[in-house]
Amino acid sequence: MTESIKTTCCYCGVGCGIIVHKDRDGKLHVEGDKDHPVNKGMLCSKGMNLHYTVMDTSDRLLYPEMRYNKNLPRQRVSWDQALERTAAVFSTIIEKFGPEAVAFYASGQCLTEEYYVVNKLIKGFIGSNNIDTNSRLCMSSAVAAYKKSLGEDSVPVCYDDIELTDCIFVAGANPAWCHPILWRRVEAAKAANPNLVIIVSDPRVTQTCSLANLHLQLNPGTDIVLHHAIGRVLIEQGDIDASFVHNHTEGFEKYAAKVMERSVEEAAIICGVPAEDIRKAAAYIGASKSFITMWTMGLNQSVIGVDKNLSLINLNLITGKIGKPGSGPLSLTGQPNAMGGREVGGLANILPAHRDLANPLHRKEVEEFWGGKKISDKRGLTATEMFEALESGKLKAIWIMCTNPLLSLPDVRKAEAALKKAKFVVVQEISSKPETIQYADVILPAAAWTEKEGTMTNAERRISYLSKLVTPPGEALPDAEIICRFAQKMGYHGFDYNSFEEIYNEHCQITKGTNIDISALSYDIIKRNRTVQWPYNGDTELGTKRLFTDHRFHTPSKKAIIHAVNDENASEPVSPQLPLILTTGRIRDQWHTMSKTGKVNKLKQHIANAFLEIHPDDAFTRDISEDDIVEITNRNGNVRVKAKLTTSIKRGVVFLPMHWGKILNNDLNRANNLTHTLLDPTSLQPDFKFTAVEVKKYKKP
Ligand code: SF4
Repeated sequence: MTESIKTTCCYCGVGCGIIVHKDRDGKLHVEGDKDHPVNKGMLCSKGMNLHYTVMDTSDRLLYPEMRYNKNLPRQRVSWDQALERTAAVFSTIIEKFGPEAVAFYASGQCLTEEYYVVNKLIKGFIGSNNIDTNSRLCMSSAVAAYKKSLGEDSVPVCYDDIELTDCIFVAGANPAWCHPILWRRVEAAKAANPNLVIIVSDPRVTQTCSLANLHLQLNPGTDIVLHHAIGRVLIEQGDIDASFVHNHTEGFEKYAAKVMERSVEEAAIICGVPAEDIRKAAAYIGASKSFITMWTMGLNQSVIGVDKNLSLINLNLITGKIGKPGSGPLSLTGQPNAMGGREVGGLANILPAHRDLANPLHRKEVEEFWGGKKISDKRGLTATEMFEALESGKLKAIWIMCTNPLLSLPDVRKAEAALKKAKFVVVQEISSKPETIQYADVILPAAAWTEKEGTMTNAERRISYLSKLVTPPGEALPDAEIICRFAQKMGYHGFDYNSFEEIYNEHCQITKGTNIDISALSYDIIKRNRTVQWPYNGDTELGTKRLFTDHRFHTPSKKAIIHAVNDENASEPVSPQLPLILTTGRIRDQWHTMSKTGKVNKLKQHIANAFLEIHPDDAFTRDISEDDIVEITNRNGNVRVKAKLTTSIKRGVVFLPMHWGKILNNDLNRANNLTHTLLDPTSLQPDFKFTAVEVKKYKKP
């Protein structure tokens, strides 16, 4: 090997450490970093094959391209031509229609430095808050719930708590497939401590359930009813921490009254699980000395996502199992740097360092720091709202950065129609495959993993540094450099950084005095320690493992808030015409919209094609057999895939993986043809877990 670097996996939010070697022929090899505190040398199938995605440059965008007219083909141009034209179009639109007529739609895969500059550009200099990312589709319900309950968007625990806990409740998540290395740590913890209890709630029997002491196979959308029923039993059995509740929380009385509204038996019928299993779950939690709640999309991607989150966090609060080793809520992040994006304020409703856009003092602090324009007090457009605004003509230009919305957005055919109507579309991407490319007026080729440097933060607040090893192909540039060059073409000052480290240092300085303060954390300190957890005040080299250990929360009263939320689901109900509930999700060896994992043949060996999971009883009544082509329909659209009959899914529920789409030349296997754009009213996160559909055997016309 001629050269090696230490970096971090760019797939999921677990954040595993990887060593990448380059040999004399320029070939890359990867291995898990044994010294990394997250994965200790382990890698999952996706991480182990990451180097192939960089070495295969066959789909890479190599040069900027542009067209002056939507009827003309795009042509190769220089960076200056592409950015000058884009700046001219943006300036004209802003002058004519105001700053809210342009928007940036970015990604939880962006590095923190990239997120920082694009957020600074739109909020501090263009003068609109129209920036959102695909993290809106993934984490925003958890963000809102943490804020409402703990006063801050902060994951209190660390992964080391897995080895210290004696009870884990996994709600609406399949970490065995979607966060595999974290799950291997759970498996190892269970092997070392047979008394470790694992409870799983999921409408499907997933790989995660194979380790569970108890699987609560609940009906989709009934999570709050289940959590409340568990809370009720904990209260009735005296398994709460009355002293913690009294001294460190607010809202318990209302909560206790709320959970008493339904008997356990009534809750059991609604949830479709045995009442004794609800009591068993509560008994496990009540008997545990430490307790982790772990969740992801099953709770977040819902029209009641924030309330689902709150009802689960309540179980940590009433038992006082938070802010202690082995205890607390642990939301798993789908994307590698969703946490970093939140740190820099890269969403339509927040400002850097978790500052509030609605707070005039916070806006002033950021305005003064950036020295640009007055920050608008108007919340920006969120992910789905941007595409609705394109459709209505309110939004004229959109800049799509490192994400594939025409596969990942709900009701995606509507989003596609909206993008067709857009006056001006910029796509900043590494690959020529994403569907969005065909609508681009300007294409800006971006550097990929190992081709640029920067930082990311994983789901346990752990910041890591990613090194550069490979020169980007063609004229591709790091995303942060593209944004800074564009900002300068727009005539804005404050974007003439000499290095990515300068951007990072500026980001750190804006956190000074906040709850996520990393103002004393340099690239050097991160590199020396491999990773550091925020906040970092220099007292301990590795940062802060756990939050709220003094039981002082970041609310005005310093007490955590126990919210008494309603338990009714607000998704579109099933009907005689649409009697089945569609839930979408992931498979083990693919990631998101397959623009990277889809390039690796080895990863296709696990599951090669899209499929519909359906219970044999539901299949029988529809005359559907294994491998029949079925058509799934509703008002939004249709999908045609092969049927997979399995008793691992509840009757009345069907499952489609979310990865496939036009990238493999077939938009009839795109799950989001069917999902709808109903949003959680607080987090504005769409619901991908509850869509009313019908399924029929497909007969060729
Ligand atoms: Fe990468 Fe996640 Fe797998 Fe770790 S668990 S190797 S971060 S995909």
